[in-house]
Amino acid sequence: VAIAVTRERREGETRCAVTPETVKKLIALGASVTVEAGTGVGAAIPDSEYTDAGASVKPDTRAVLEGADLVLKVRGPTAQEVSAMKPGAVVVAMLDAYREKDTVAAMAGANVTAFAMEFVPRITRAQVMDALSSQANLAGYRAVIEGAYAYGKGFPMMMTAAGTVAPAKVFIMGVGVAGLQAIATARRLGAVVTATDVRPATKEQVESLGAKFLAVEDDEFRNAQTAGGYAKPMSEEYQAKQAALTGEHIKKQDIVITTALIPGRAAPVLVSAEQVASMKPGSVLIDLAVEAGGNVAGSKAGEVVTTANGVSIVGYTNLPGRIASDASALYAKNLVAFTGLLIKDGALAVDLEDEILKASVVTHGGAVVHEGVRG
Ligand code: NAD
Repeated sequence: VAIAVTRERREGETRCAVTPETVKKLIALGASVTVEAGTGVGAAIPDSEYTDAGASVKPDTRAVLEGADLVLKVRGPTAQEVSAMKPGAVVVAMLDAYREKDTVAAMAGANVTAFAMEFVPRITRAQVMDALSSQANLAGYRAVIEGAYAYGKGFPMMMTAAGTVAPAKVFIMGVGVAGLQAIATARRLGAVVTATDVRPATKEQVESLGAKFLAVEDDEFRNAQTAGGYAKPMSEEYQAKQAALTGEHIKKQDIVITTALIPGRAAPVLVSAEQVASMKPGSVLIDLAVEAGGNVAGSKAGEVVTTANGVSIVGYTNLPGRIASDASALYAKNLVAFTGLLIKDGALAVDLEDEILKASVVTHGGAVVHEGVRG
């Protein structure tokens, strides 16, 4: 099986889809690996390390893709990359397939079989290939680091001869994979941490990390989790009650990190413009849901907005890309596990009846086969 990895071409994408460690693992599966020169630059991996691991490094994109059976990427390929692939080639990437319709159409048109890592189901067998979780965990960590950087004061309490520095108050809204890591990271830095979520199961998780849980705990809250473990959209009435409770709290916070998402829908607005205006000058909001519409009124994708009252709203996209070495290492391992499903006895063998492949295949046989993406 000829595996190809090209440089990421999306703006600001610093991660890469293979590391020297995973090149070795892919070769052990019976594959040969060709990597485009410069693939690892953003993750501090020089070409020579890929060569040492057994990959062949080539400078020309077309030469890398030509004849490849399997193409591994972080983000979806460009139209130009797709045009260099042979019919029947398989692509695996975080395609962002609901939004990247043109890329999906190009792959279907070129008779390329594409799998979206974001559609890997969250079943036990697929945990090792759960890229959403591996990346969200790092995003949660990095959100706290970005918050600490934008905040003009310290996180821990410091008692010094010159006086005492008060600990920062950090509020995490949305306690999924990213939120839990944000709580843990803020606690490690010494902040006083509170958190909220609409799923009742999160209360115990928040408390076990040494943070305080804050939410309107009524009957609707007690039933707010789907069988798949995701949040349900909440009623307007609940949202109003919750906003009244969190509004009082937000006023007193130094850092607010929002991570609330509902699969397939726009992100809920959890911090209104009035609430942003109620915060102290120098406070910082970090909106991890900015690309899904945003949890914070006034957040802008890719920007740090400073409001009239001196509050910063950090809207960086791709936080995992700001910790590219670790993000690449973990994502590359997710890909090795996924590739293990595609290679049997050293040959490419795609069984679309496999539960994981069935859920994540987007294009096959010249058509868009994923129902949600086809629309
Ligand atoms: P997510 O990214 O979909 O959402 C982030 C958080 O936002 C969730 O906790 C959600 O409940 C919360 N949220 C949504 N609307 C909200 C609102 N109005 N107010 C406050 N919070 C709101 O979540 P995720 O990180 O993908 O995790 C979702 C679930 O999947 C969790 O239960 C997690 O433990 C589970 N999970 C399971 C596996 C597995 O079994 N393999 C892997 C990863 C995650």
